[in-house]
Amino acid sequence: MKLMIVGPQGSGKGTQAKLISEKYNIPHISTGDLLRAAVKDETEVGKQIKDILGRGELVPDEIVINLIKDKLKESDKGFILDGFPRNLEQAKALDKITQLDKVIDVIISDKESVKRISGRRSCPKCGSVFHITTNQPKKEDVCDNCGEGLVQRDDDKEEVIKKRLQIYHEQTSLLEDFYRNEEILEEIDGEQPIEKVFEDIVKVLSE
Ligand code: AMP
Repeated sequence: MKLMIVGPQGSGKGTQAKLISEKYNIPHISTGDLLRAAVKDETEVGKQIKDILGRGELVPDEIVINLIKDKLKESDKGFILDGFPRNLEQAKALDKITQLDKVIDVIISDKESVKRISGRRSCPKCGSVFHITTNQPKKEDVCDNCGEGLVQRDDDKEEVIKKRLQIYHEQTSLLEDFYRNEEILEEIDGEQPIEKVFEDIVKVLSE
């Protein structure tokens, strides 16, 4: 099963991708995670993109495409892509590498997106994610899993989110037309409880 999940920041697409990955036993490939890992590990690519990530802008297509090409070579049985492709250029590049079976489009409003993201707190050590109102850690600002202090990612700050949403609407939404045209786009209401969103996804994947 070759899948892609798309949705604005805070749509819960990362959470759903993880659930899909577990249920169907396919790897979850997130370009955001791969890029953040490169920054953390201070690789050559990491050094080039650190500032871009902090500003909430898109990393150059060439870098992301090279990164994903290597990953896809390891996963010929199937995968769930999260965060890639993000624009038409990337979608066309992916089309040359492999064909997707379905694209899951998780839809939420901008207002909901800002509300969800600005309350997000992440663990810089193990990557766990919490929320100041909807998913509080047991002890304020401390990671439940590893005890590290939680932080607000630079790109989760309100001004940066608004910019990321603007980029999302300008570029990523063009993808919807691209995949609608290929008749593999499935639109899912993301403003429902996590379990219900997942139920809706499983339903369209079994069709
Ligand atoms: P995410 O965790 O998916 O929101 O990604 C975090 C950041 O990584 C984005 O704001 C971009 O700077 C970068 N990024 C992730 N995926 C891509 C992509 N496909 N193309 C360009 N930049 C990306």
